[in-house]
Amino acid sequence: MNNYDVIIVGAGTAGTYFAYLLGKRGLKVLVIDKDKEKDLAKRLDIFHFTTESFARFNLPESKAGDEEFVSKFSYIYSRSALDNYEKKNFLEVSVMHLPLFIKRLRNKAIKENVEFKFATEFKDLIYDAKGRISGIETKDEKSYNARLVVDASGIPSVVRRVVKDPYMETFPIGPRDKFYVFLKYVKLKDPNIKIDMSLSWPYYKSWIAPQQNKDGAIVGVGANISVDYARKCMKKFEDSIKLPAYDLQYEEWGATPYRRPPYSFVSDGFLVLGDAACLTQPFNGEGITAAWVQSTPAADVVANALKDDKYPTKEALWPINVMYQTGEGALFAGQRALLVGAVNMSKEDNDYLYANGIIFKSDDEEVKGSVAGNLIKGVLKGKFSFAALRSLMGASSTGNKLTKHYKNYPTSPEKYFAWKKKADRLWKKAGSMADNVKDAD
Ligand SMILES: Cc1cc2nc3c(=O)[nH]c(=O)nc-3n(C[C@H](O)[C@H](O)[C@H](O)COP(=O)(O)OP(=O)(O)OC[C@H]3O[C@@H](n4cnc5c(N)ncnc54)[C@H](O)[C@@H]3O)c2cc1C
Repeated sequence: MNNYDVIIVGAGTAGTYFAYLLGKRGLKVLVIDKDKEKDLAKRLDIFHFTTESFARFNLPESKAGDEEFVSKFSYIYSRSALDNYEKKNFLEVSVMHLPLFIKRLRNKAIKENVEFKFATEFKDLIYDAKGRISGIETKDEKSYNARLVVDASGIPSVVRRVVKDPYMETFPIGPRDKFYVFLKYVKLKDPNIKIDMSLSWPYYKSWIAPQQNKDGAIVGVGANISVDYARKCMKKFEDSIKLPAYDLQYEEWGATPYRRPPYSFVSDGFLVLGDAACLTQPFNGEGITAAWVQSTPAADVVANALKDDKYPTKEALWPINVMYQTGEGALFAGQRALLVGAVNMSKEDNDYLYANGIIFKSDDEEVKGSVAGNLIKGVLKGKFSFAALRSLMGASSTGNKLTKHYKNYPTSPEKYFAWKKKADRLWKKAGSMADNVKDAD
């Protein structure tokens, strides 16, 4: 039996970065992953990372010449459903190869004495004589002791789902809770057209973005329910919007969680991170930095909870919940509820929002009047439907209530269940993006 301070299940971006943070704090950390090292993160090649995040998360910026680097762009564009209006927003984005980026993170963690074991699959939790989590058993019948077990296993959430504690939600992340992302890597027929920035059509949850080949692009779509439904959405998008002519190189798909995170990330001797905790951005499903916002302060809380050989109780780990839920958690809860109402409208309604800088607005655009006032004006002029107004205002009101409720997240576990009861009521009212899907069959 080996003894560690912390065992992390999953060597993706969430587990590897957290391991690095804990290694830096002098903790003895083991990371296991079911995949072989050479296969790790192969499911996804190109990904986007806001360039300011390098400084924010204390990592050296990836530059031309680094093996993971592909390109960089500085503006993101979005267009309306009928393709009549375009918005431009400043955002510096670095485009990189995911497996090579994780390799770079892993090397940093190894320098901090973190151990990695690949081709090692989690089987179950093990408990001490007091019934507290005290490590893990793997499928090759080995046991590893640790005072803290961290679930960073992504969508399967293999550890969170077997934690026995009323404070820990054990839900699976099913088809209604996922966004299936379907990507086509394409070569453009016209060599004069270059896709060197990201252009999205939020109405279709679709986009076109750069890839490693300068004559190429990635055409993407996200949809609940299934990959087949995402393909169907891609067809609807391409039937509606004229993209530059292309030849298909290859297809890729994956899924990202698209539901509210568990209300608590901690239990006695346990913490959940990353996709396993549904920490993704409501507007685009991106999850790498969204998860690190939780793990950066969590590393300090964990180091403190483990100091002097202490056992990390739920009470000692609770500040992780408070810090996340009152910050990014509160913001994302509001956005998630708003989105359910914002996508539930016609193409004409969506064009009206773009035309008037409502929700979708360029950096340099000045909008006169309030959102509600401009929407009502649209209804009175017959340019925005009453159904869309009702849906959007309802979603916005529920979103605001959720944000306020998350900002009042209980500072200790005692008041958790009363807080949860009200949160359940608000989420029921908010509904889910999957409720908007009417044509999946
Ligand atoms: C097509 C697509 C494009 C995306 N693009 C972006 C983007 O551009 N930018 C962005 O920020 N996000 C993007 N995302 C989301 C992002 O990829 C995820 O949010 C992020 O990678 C999640 O990291 P993670 O470490 O939590 O989980 P994962 O990356 O899923 O890692 C979990 C690890 O746990 C291991 N594991 C699972 N089960 C077990 C087990 N039983 N035992 C041991 N190990 C196990 C897995 O092998 C895996 O290596 C995209 C997602 C998709 C699907």
